[in-house]
Amino acid sequence: MNTLRFTNLPGDGIGPEVMSVTLKVLESLGSSKGFAIETTTHDVGGIGIDNHGSALPDSTLDACKEADAILFGSVGGPKWESLPPKEQPERAALLPIRKAFELFANLRPGNLYPELADLSPLRPSTVSEGIDVLCVREVTGGIYCGQPKNTQLLENGEEEALDTMIYKTGEIERITEIAVKAASLRKKKICSVDKANVLETSVLWRKVVSECVKRLDPSIELTHMYVDNAAMQLVRDPNQFDVIVTENMFGDILSDELAVICGSLGMLASASLGTGVNSLGHPFGLYEPAGGTAPDIAGKNLANPCAQILSAALMLRYSFGMEEEASAIEGAVKQTIRDGFRSGDISNGSESIGTNEMGDAVIERLLT
Ligand code: NAD
Repeated sequence: MNTLRFTNLPGDGIGPEVMSVTLKVLESLGSSKGFAIETTTHDVGGIGIDNHGSALPDSTLDACKEADAILFGSVGGPKWESLPPKEQPERAALLPIRKAFELFANLRPGNLYPELADLSPLRPSTVSEGIDVLCVREVTGGIYCGQPKNTQLLENGEEEALDTMIYKTGEIERITEIAVKAASLRKKKICSVDKANVLETSVLWRKVVSECVKRLDPSIELTHMYVDNAAMQLVRDPNQFDVIVTENMFGDILSDELAVICGSLGMLASASLGTGVNSLGHPFGLYEPAGGTAPDIAGKNLANPCAQILSAALMLRYSFGMEEEASAIEGAVKQTIRDGFRSGDISNGSESIGTNEMGDAVIERLLT
Protein backbone atom coordinates (compact mmCIF):
# COMPACT_ATOMS: atom_id res chain seq x y z
CA MET A 1 0.00 0.00 0.00
CA ASN A 2 1.18 3.48 -0.89
CA THR A 3 2.12 5.38 2.32
CA LEU A 4 2.24 9.17 2.57
CA ARG A 5 4.94 10.25 5.02
CA PHE A 6 4.72 13.88 6.06
CA THR A 7 5.10 15.97 9.20
CA ASN A 8 2.21 18.10 10.32
CA LEU A 9 2.96 21.32 12.18
CA PRO A 10 -0.36 22.79 13.35
CA GLY A 11 1.19 25.84 15.07
CA ASP A 12 -0.97 28.37 16.92
CA GLY A 13 -4.45 29.88 16.97
CA ILE A 14 -6.79 28.12 14.55
CA GLY A 15 -3.90 25.94 13.30
CA PRO A 16 -4.63 22.86 15.47
CA GLU A 17 -8.38 23.00 14.72
CA VAL A 18 -8.07 23.15 10.95
CA MET A 19 -5.18 20.66 10.95
CA SER A 20 -7.14 18.00 12.82
CA VAL A 21 -10.03 18.30 10.36
CA THR A 22 -7.59 18.09 7.44
CA LEU A 23 -5.96 14.93 8.76
CA LYS A 24 -9.41 13.37 9.01
CA VAL A 25 -10.05 14.30 5.38
CA LEU A 26 -6.77 12.70 4.28
CA GLU A 27 -7.42 9.55 6.32
CA SER A 28 -10.91 9.19 4.85
CA LEU A 29 -9.58 9.61 1.33
CA GLY A 30 -6.81 7.11 2.09
CA SER A 31 -9.26 4.46 3.27
CA SER A 32 -11.37 4.85 0.16
CA LYS A 33 -8.50 5.09 -2.36
CA GLY A 34 -6.17 2.57 -0.71
CA PHE A 35 -3.29 4.63 0.62
CA ALA A 36 -2.02 5.03 4.19
CA ILE A 37 -1.04 8.16 6.10
CA GLU A 38 2.06 8.18 8.29
CA THR A 39 2.33 11.56 9.93
CA THR A 40 3.77 12.95 13.14
CA THR A 41 2.73 16.19 14.83
CA HIS A 42 5.35 18.67 16.03
CA ASP A 43 5.39 22.04 17.75
CA VAL A 44 6.16 25.16 15.75
CA GLY A 45 5.72 28.89 16.33
CA GLY A 46 4.38 30.18 19.64
CA ILE A 47 3.75 26.73 21.04
CA GLY A 48 7.34 25.83 20.13
CA ILE A 49 8.53 28.83 22.16
CA ASP A 50 6.32 27.84 25.10
CA ASN A 51 7.23 24.14 25.12
CA HIS A 52 10.86 24.13 23.88
CA GLY A 53 12.10 27.74 24.05
CA SER A 54 12.31 27.99 20.25
CA ALA A 55 9.82 28.74 17.47
CA LEU A 56 11.48 26.03 15.43
CA PRO A 57 12.68 23.35 17.88
CA ASP A 58 15.47 21.05 16.62
CA SER A 59 13.15 18.05 17.05
CA THR A 60 10.66 19.67 14.66
CA LEU A 61 13.26 20.49 12.05
CA ASP A 62 14.72 16.96 12.30
CA ALA A 63 11.27 15.43 11.78
CA CYS A 64 10.75 17.62 8.70
CA LYS A 65 14.06 16.41 7.28
CA GLU A 66 12.89 12.80 7.63
CA ALA A 67 9.59 13.47 5.87
CA ASP A 68 8.51 13.76 2.22
CA ALA A 69 6.57 16.99 2.83
CA ILE A 70 5.46 19.42 5.53
CA LEU A 71 1.83 20.27 6.15
CA PHE A 72 1.96 23.55 8.03
CA GLY A 73 -0.83 25.36 9.92
CA SER A 74 0.00 28.93 10.89
CA VAL A 75 1.97 30.58 13.65
CA GLY A 76 1.88 33.63 15.88
CA GLY A 77 -0.57 35.53 18.03
CA PRO A 78 -0.89 38.27 20.66
CA LYS A 79 0.90 36.19 23.32
CA TRP A 80 4.23 36.40 21.47
CA GLU A 81 3.92 39.86 19.90
CA SER A 82 6.05 41.58 22.55
CA LEU A 83 9.08 39.38 21.80
CA PRO A 84 11.94 40.96 19.83
CA PRO A 85 10.98 40.82 16.11
CA LYS A 86 13.64 38.20 15.32
CA GLU A 87 12.22 35.82 17.95
CA GLN A 88 8.58 36.22 16.94
CA PRO A 89 6.95 33.01 15.70
CA GLU A 90 6.51 33.86 12.00
CA ARG A 91 10.01 35.15 11.49
CA ALA A 92 11.72 32.61 13.78
CA ALA A 93 9.90 29.57 12.42
CA LEU A 94 9.03 30.13 8.77
CA LEU A 95 12.20 31.87 7.61
CA PRO A 96 14.54 29.14 8.93
CA ILE A 97 12.33 26.39 7.46
CA ARG A 98 12.36 28.15 4.07
CA LYS A 99 16.14 28.44 4.35
CA ALA A 100 16.72 24.86 5.51
CA PHE A 101 14.80 23.42 2.56
CA GLU A 102 15.67 26.16 0.02
CA LEU A 103 11.99 26.76 -0.64
CA PHE A 104 12.41 29.11 -3.59
CA ALA A 105 8.99 28.76 -5.23
CA ASN A 106 5.74 29.94 -3.71
CA LEU A 107 2.56 28.80 -5.41
CA ARG A 108 -0.63 30.64 -4.54
CA PRO A 109 -3.77 29.42 -6.27
CA GLY A 110 -6.37 32.18 -6.51
CA ASN A 111 -9.63 30.31 -6.51
CA LEU A 112 -13.07 31.81 -6.20
CA TYR A 113 -16.02 29.50 -6.73
CA PRO A 114 -18.94 31.07 -8.62
CA GLU A 115 -21.15 30.39 -5.56
CA LEU A 116 -18.93 32.73 -3.51
CA ALA A 117 -18.72 35.47 -6.14
CA ASP A 118 -20.43 37.90 -3.73
CA LEU A 119 -17.32 37.80 -1.51
CA SER A 120 -15.12 39.30 -4.21
CA PRO A 121 -14.70 43.06 -4.31
CA LEU A 122 -14.83 42.79 -8.12
CA ARG A 123 -18.01 43.45 -10.13
CA PRO A 124 -20.38 40.43 -10.23
CA SER A 125 -20.19 40.42 -14.04
CA THR A 126 -16.39 40.02 -13.85
CA VAL A 127 -16.45 37.06 -11.45
CA SER A 128 -19.75 35.35 -12.27
CA GLU A 129 -17.78 32.29 -13.48
CA GLY A 130 -15.46 32.42 -10.45
CA ILE A 131 -11.68 32.87 -10.58
CA ASP A 132 -9.01 30.22 -11.18
CA VAL A 133 -5.48 31.61 -11.46
CA LEU A 134 -2.20 30.24 -10.09
CA CYS A 135 0.55 32.67 -9.09
CA VAL A 136 4.06 31.17 -9.05
CA ARG A 137 6.41 33.52 -7.22
CA GLU A 138 10.18 33.31 -6.85
CA VAL A 139 10.87 33.92 -3.14
CA THR A 140 14.59 33.60 -2.45
CA GLY A 141 16.04 36.13 -4.88
CA GLY A 142 15.41 39.58 -6.30
CA ILE A 143 15.40 42.85 -4.43
CA TYR A 144 14.25 41.34 -1.11
CA CYS A 145 17.35 39.19 -0.80
CA GLY A 146 19.99 40.86 -3.02
CA GLN A 147 23.22 42.19 -1.48
CA PRO A 148 24.45 44.85 -0.82
CA LYS A 149 21.61 46.31 1.18
CA ASN A 150 22.34 49.27 3.44
CA THR A 151 21.62 52.81 4.58
CA GLN A 152 24.42 55.37 4.84
CA LEU A 153 24.82 58.98 5.88
CA LEU A 154 26.05 61.21 3.07
CA GLU A 155 28.44 64.15 3.48
CA ASN A 156 25.62 66.64 2.96
CA GLY A 157 23.70 65.11 5.90
CA GLU A 158 21.15 63.20 3.79
CA GLU A 159 20.62 59.50 4.29
CA GLU A 160 20.87 57.16 1.32
CA ALA A 161 19.37 53.66 1.28
CA LEU A 162 20.30 50.90 -1.14
CA ASP A 163 18.69 47.58 -2.11
CA THR A 164 20.02 45.34 -4.83
CA MET A 165 17.85 43.59 -7.38
CA ILE A 166 19.73 40.63 -8.73
CA TYR A 167 18.88 37.39 -10.56
CA LYS A 168 21.02 34.65 -12.04
CA THR A 169 20.03 32.42 -14.97
CA GLY A 170 19.75 29.33 -12.76
CA GLU A 171 17.34 31.03 -10.36
CA ILE A 172 15.05 31.99 -13.25
CA GLU A 173 15.30 28.57 -14.86
CA ARG A 174 14.27 26.67 -11.74
CA ILE A 175 11.18 28.81 -11.08
CA THR A 176 10.20 28.54 -14.75
CA GLU A 177 10.46 24.76 -14.46
CA ILE A 178 7.98 24.82 -11.57
CA ALA A 179 5.63 27.06 -13.57
CA VAL A 180 5.83 24.74 -16.58
CA LYS A 181 5.07 21.71 -14.40
CA ALA A 182 2.11 23.50 -12.83
CA ALA A 183 0.80 24.76 -16.17
CA SER A 184 0.99 21.29 -17.67
CA LEU A 185 -1.56 20.17 -15.03
CA ARG A 186 -3.82 23.14 -15.91
CA LYS A 187 -4.65 25.02 -19.14
CA LYS A 188 -1.03 25.11 -20.36
CA LYS A 189 -0.84 28.91 -20.38
CA ILE A 190 1.88 30.91 -18.66
CA CYS A 191 2.09 34.68 -18.36
CA SER A 192 5.51 35.82 -17.22
CA VAL A 193 5.37 39.17 -15.43
CA ASP A 194 8.34 41.53 -15.43
CA LYS A 195 9.34 45.15 -16.02
CA ALA A 196 11.64 44.57 -18.96
CA ASN A 197 11.17 48.12 -20.24
CA VAL A 198 13.21 49.48 -17.30
CA LEU A 199 14.94 46.70 -15.34
CA GLU A 200 18.02 44.75 -16.42
CA THR A 201 16.96 41.82 -14.23
CA SER A 202 13.65 41.75 -16.11
CA VAL A 203 15.39 41.68 -19.50
CA LEU A 204 17.30 38.59 -18.36
CA TRP A 205 14.13 37.19 -16.75
CA ARG A 206 12.17 37.48 -20.01
CA LYS A 207 14.97 35.91 -22.09
CA VAL A 208 15.53 32.97 -19.74
CA VAL A 209 11.81 32.26 -19.24
CA SER A 210 11.28 32.25 -23.03
CA GLU A 211 14.22 29.88 -23.66
CA CYS A 212 13.28 27.62 -20.78
CA VAL A 213 9.60 27.21 -21.70
CA LYS A 214 10.56 26.54 -25.31
CA ARG A 215 13.02 23.87 -24.19
CA LEU A 216 10.81 22.23 -21.55
CA ASP A 217 7.43 22.26 -23.27
CA PRO A 218 6.95 24.21 -26.51
CA SER A 219 3.24 23.38 -26.45
CA ILE A 220 2.77 25.82 -23.55
CA GLU A 221 1.35 29.19 -24.57
CA LEU A 222 3.75 31.76 -23.12
CA THR A 223 3.05 35.50 -22.93
CA HIS A 224 4.90 38.34 -21.20
CA MET A 225 3.37 41.29 -19.41
CA TYR A 226 4.74 44.34 -17.59
CA VAL A 227 3.89 44.26 -13.89
CA ASP A 228 1.91 47.52 -13.90
CA ASN A 229 -0.32 46.16 -16.65
CA ALA A 230 -0.61 42.78 -14.87
CA ALA A 231 -1.86 44.52 -11.71
CA MET A 232 -4.58 46.21 -13.81
CA GLN A 233 -5.46 43.12 -15.85
CA LEU A 234 -5.91 41.03 -12.69
CA VAL A 235 -8.81 43.22 -11.55
CA ARG A 236 -10.15 43.87 -15.05
CA ASP A 237 -10.32 40.25 -16.21
CA PRO A 238 -8.57 37.77 -13.87
CA ASN A 239 -9.48 34.71 -15.91
CA GLN A 240 -7.36 35.79 -18.86
CA PHE A 241 -4.55 34.28 -16.75
CA ASP A 242 -3.91 30.60 -16.08
CA VAL A 243 -0.42 30.52 -14.49
CA ILE A 244 1.44 33.73 -13.66
CA VAL A 245 5.17 33.36 -13.04
CA THR A 246 7.08 36.27 -11.61
CA GLU A 247 9.96 37.45 -9.47
CA ASN A 248 9.92 38.04 -5.71
CA MET A 249 8.62 41.60 -5.23
CA PHE A 250 6.16 41.59 -8.13
CA GLY A 251 4.85 38.23 -6.92
CA ASP A 252 4.45 39.50 -3.36
CA ILE A 253 2.15 42.26 -4.58
CA LEU A 254 0.27 40.34 -7.28
CA SER A 255 -0.37 37.26 -5.11
CA ASP A 256 -1.96 39.45 -2.40
CA GLU A 257 -4.02 41.23 -5.05
CA LEU A 258 -5.14 37.82 -6.27
CA ALA A 259 -6.01 36.76 -2.70
CA VAL A 260 -8.18 39.80 -2.07
CA ILE A 261 -10.14 39.48 -5.31
CA CYS A 262 -10.88 35.87 -4.33
CA GLY A 263 -12.79 37.00 -1.25
CA SER A 264 -11.78 35.01 1.83
CA LEU A 265 -8.49 33.98 3.37
CA GLY A 266 -10.27 30.92 4.73
CA MET A 267 -10.42 29.42 1.22
CA LEU A 268 -6.86 30.05 0.02
CA ALA A 269 -4.07 27.48 0.09
CA SER A 270 -0.39 27.80 -0.77
CA ALA A 271 2.62 25.65 -1.56
CA SER A 272 6.33 26.37 -1.19
CA LEU A 273 8.57 24.08 -3.21
CA GLY A 274 12.28 23.64 -2.71
CA THR A 275 15.36 22.58 -4.56
CA GLY A 276 15.25 19.12 -2.98
CA VAL A 277 13.33 16.08 -4.08
CA ASN A 278 11.74 13.73 -1.57
CA SER A 279 12.15 9.96 -1.28
CA LEU A 280 9.58 9.51 -4.05
CA GLY A 281 11.46 11.74 -6.50
CA HIS A 282 8.90 14.58 -6.26
CA PRO A 283 9.62 18.14 -5.08
CA PHE A 284 9.89 18.49 -1.30
CA GLY A 285 7.40 21.14 -0.21
CA LEU A 286 5.72 23.01 2.59
CA TYR A 287 1.98 23.43 2.30
CA GLU A 288 0.03 26.01 4.30
CA PRO A 289 -3.07 28.19 4.27
CA ALA A 290 -2.58 31.74 2.97
CA GLY A 291 -4.08 33.24 6.15
CA GLY A 292 -2.68 33.51 9.65
CA THR A 293 -3.72 32.17 13.06
CA ALA A 294 -6.96 34.21 13.25
CA PRO A 295 -6.71 34.82 17.04
CA ASP A 296 -10.15 36.48 17.00
CA ILE A 297 -11.87 33.14 16.32
CA ALA A 298 -9.31 30.60 17.59
CA GLY A 299 -10.51 27.74 19.79
CA LYS A 300 -14.18 28.37 19.01
CA ASN A 301 -14.82 25.90 16.17
CA LEU A 302 -15.43 28.91 13.88
CA ALA A 303 -12.47 28.72 11.48
CA ASN A 304 -12.94 27.72 7.88
CA PRO A 305 -10.85 24.54 7.39
CA CYS A 306 -10.98 24.72 3.57
CA ALA A 307 -7.66 26.58 3.15
CA GLN A 308 -5.87 23.88 5.14
CA ILE A 309 -7.71 21.06 3.37
CA LEU A 310 -6.86 22.60 -0.01
CA SER A 311 -3.23 22.92 1.10
CA ALA A 312 -3.24 19.16 1.70
CA ALA A 313 -4.58 18.71 -1.84
CA LEU A 314 -1.60 20.71 -3.16
CA MET A 315 0.70 18.46 -1.11
CA LEU A 316 -0.78 15.38 -2.79
CA ARG A 317 -0.40 17.01 -6.22
CA TYR A 318 3.15 18.29 -5.99
CA SER A 319 5.00 16.24 -3.34
CA PHE A 320 3.24 12.90 -3.85
CA GLY A 321 2.36 13.10 -7.56
CA MET A 322 -1.27 12.16 -6.74
CA GLU A 323 -3.17 14.37 -9.17
CA GLU A 324 -6.37 12.32 -9.12
CA GLU A 325 -6.58 12.36 -5.31
CA ALA A 326 -5.72 16.08 -5.17
CA SER A 327 -8.51 16.84 -7.63
CA ALA A 328 -10.90 14.65 -5.62
CA ILE A 329 -10.30 16.79 -2.52
CA GLU A 330 -10.66 20.02 -4.49
CA GLY A 331 -13.86 18.69 -6.06
CA ALA A 332 -15.28 17.75 -2.65
CA VAL A 333 -14.56 21.23 -1.24
CA LYS A 334 -16.17 22.79 -4.31
CA GLN A 335 -19.24 20.57 -3.96
CA THR A 336 -19.51 21.41 -0.25
CA ILE A 337 -19.71 25.09 -1.14
CA ARG A 338 -22.08 24.38 -4.03
CA ASP A 339 -24.36 22.51 -1.62
CA GLY A 340 -24.61 25.62 0.53
CA PHE A 341 -22.37 24.79 3.52
CA ARG A 342 -20.73 27.95 4.88
CA SER A 343 -18.37 28.77 7.73
CA GLY A 344 -18.77 32.27 9.23
CA ASP A 345 -16.13 33.95 7.03
CA ILE A 346 -17.95 33.06 3.81
CA SER A 347 -21.57 33.18 5.00
CA ASN A 348 -22.14 36.88 4.26
CA GLY A 349 -24.08 37.17 7.51
CA SER A 350 -26.43 34.24 6.87
CA GLU A 351 -26.47 30.91 8.72
CA SER A 352 -23.08 29.26 9.20
CA ILE A 353 -21.57 26.03 10.54
CA GLY A 354 -18.41 25.23 12.49
CA THR A 355 -14.96 23.98 11.55
CA ASN A 356 -15.69 20.34 12.32
CA GLU A 357 -19.04 20.37 10.53
CA MET A 358 -17.43 21.92 7.43
CA GLY A 359 -14.83 19.13 7.53
CA ASP A 360 -17.53 16.46 7.86
CA ALA A 361 -19.39 17.92 4.88
CA VAL A 362 -16.21 17.74 2.77
CA ILE A 363 -15.57 14.12 3.83
CA GLU A 364 -19.14 13.14 2.98
CA ARG A 365 -18.71 14.51 -0.55
CA LEU A 366 -15.29 12.98 -0.90
CA LEU A 367 -16.69 9.54 -0.30
CA THR A 368 -19.72 9.76 -2.59
P1 NAD B 1 -5.14 36.40 9.89
O1 NAD B 1 -5.03 35.86 8.51
O2 NAD B 1 -4.85 35.48 11.00
O3 NAD B 1 -6.62 36.99 10.12
C1 NAD B 1 -7.18 38.03 9.31
C2 NAD B 1 -8.72 37.86 9.30
O4 NAD B 1 -9.06 36.73 8.49
C3 NAD B 1 -9.29 37.61 10.69
O5 NAD B 1 -10.53 38.26 10.82
C4 NAD B 1 -9.48 36.10 10.72
O6 NAD B 1 -10.52 35.69 11.58
C5 NAD B 1 -9.79 35.79 9.25
N1 NAD B 1 -9.36 34.44 8.89
C6 NAD B 1 -8.10 34.02 8.54
N2 NAD B 1 -8.10 32.71 8.31
C7 NAD B 1 -9.37 32.29 8.49
C8 NAD B 1 -10.02 31.02 8.40
N3 NAD B 1 -9.35 29.90 8.07
N4 NAD B 1 -11.34 30.95 8.68
C9 NAD B 1 -12.04 32.04 9.00
N5 NAD B 1 -11.51 33.28 9.09
C10 NAD B 1 -10.18 33.39 8.85
O7 NAD B 1 -4.18 37.68 9.92
P2 NAD B 1 -3.74 38.63 11.14
O8 NAD B 1 -4.92 38.87 12.05
O9 NAD B 1 -3.06 39.76 10.52
O10 NAD B 1 -2.66 37.77 11.94
C11 NAD B 1 -2.93 36.99 13.10
C12 NAD B 1 -1.66 36.26 13.51
O11 NAD B 1 -1.30 35.35 12.49
C13 NAD B 1 -0.46 37.19 13.70
O12 NAD B 1 0.26 36.75 14.82
C14 NAD B 1 0.35 36.99 12.44
O13 NAD B 1 1.71 37.21 12.67
C15 NAD B 1 0.07 35.54 12.14
N6 NAD B 1 0.24 35.17 10.71
C16 NAD B 1 0.86 34.00 10.47
C17 NAD B 1 1.02 33.57 9.17
C18 NAD B 1 1.69 32.26 8.93
O14 NAD B 1 1.84 31.47 9.83
N7 NAD B 1 2.11 31.97 7.71
C19 NAD B 1 0.53 34.34 8.10
C20 NAD B 1 -0.14 35.53 8.38
C21 NAD B 1 -0.29 35.94 9.70
